[in-house]
Amino acid sequence: MWRYRDWLPLRDGEEPVTLGEGMTPLLRMPGLERRYGLRALWIKDESKNPTGSFKARGLAMAVTRAALAGAPAFTVPTAGNAGVALSAYACRAGIPARVYAPRMTPDTLLAQVRAFGATLELVDGHIGDCGRLSRAHAATTGAFDVSTLREPYRIEGKKTLGLELAEQLAWSLPDVIVYPAGGGTGLIGMWKAFRELARAGWLPDTLPRFFAAQSTGCAPLVRAVETGATRTEPWPDPKTVASGLCVPAPLGGALMLRAIRESGGGAVAVSDEALCAAQRELAAGHGIDAAPEGGAGLAALEELHRRGVVGPTDCVVVFNTGAGWLYR
Ligand SMILES: *Cc1c(COP(=O)(O)O)cnc(C)c1O
Repeated sequence: MWRYRDWLPLRDGEEPVTLGEGMTPLLRMPGLERRYGLRALWIKDESKNPTGSFKARGLAMAVTRAALAGAPAFTVPTAGNAGVALSAYACRAGIPARVYAPRMTPDTLLAQVRAFGATLELVDGHIGDCGRLSRAHAATTGAFDVSTLREPYRIEGKKTLGLELAEQLAWSLPDVIVYPAGGGTGLIGMWKAFRELARAGWLPDTLPRFFAAQSTGCAPLVRAVETGATRTEPWPDPKTVASGLCVPAPLGGALMLRAIRESGGGAVAVSDEALCAAQRELAAGHGIDAAPEGGAGLAALEELHRRGVVGPTDCVVVFNTGAGWLYR
């Protein structure tokens, strides 16, 4: 992703902390294109990043900047993938990391955190509870907290999702982006990238319609879109196997809602059964080992097709945000 370094907060002469993140495949899906009657459909397969998810982009950027600023240690709350990515990039930078994860996090994700040598704290609770513990640890020890949107650099790394998509589509944008949204860095990062590209005169000032995919077990964005609210309300008792979407009170809720509304998009909740079925179809039918969150993206597209929101004039990109094997 460092081909885009001129768009990133990296000065001349500075070297990034990298494991080869970015330039993931953009896969044309002809069978699904026909089924949903679309002009074109691609899956952007972020499972091919180092550490198996798009979290690599943000944490490569955040660890790079923090290491250059002399951070003595890192801490993060996670639903799984952010913890794995922080562990790997902190290890690469030679800086210790601590990861707070819900006890219910899938074993393979936890094993990856341990394999990269981070200190793992298991928490009885959801990601919000992990966040409180991580912030307290940062306050008492001086460790740098890389929680979603509490530092400025993860979002900069996530911009490369949008820059890369534009490059892979020969400097054009799709009509519709379907993105499994939890904390919001992916959506907000792409929104920022498209606006920066437009301001620089590289692309026209028209955004793709952003659709957030969530689980019916934790859908604060969907509820806010439906009620016309400008911020999200905390989702009581959040529960979904798509752990990256299990964010009951996202700090970036208001920003995601703005991006969705400015772009003329929306938000769709799908059941865990539907997202798991879509995940199985991506694997057994198309050879893509998607995370359950990626399944949510495809299941949301199915729902948008059923509602007639997408149709034959639309070029659509659905994001598979992570790898399925990490959840087994
Ligand atoms: C973190 C995560 C998400 C949610 O991403 P945000 O950009 O924080 O909304 C989706 N899918 C996977 C696999 C994740 O790890």
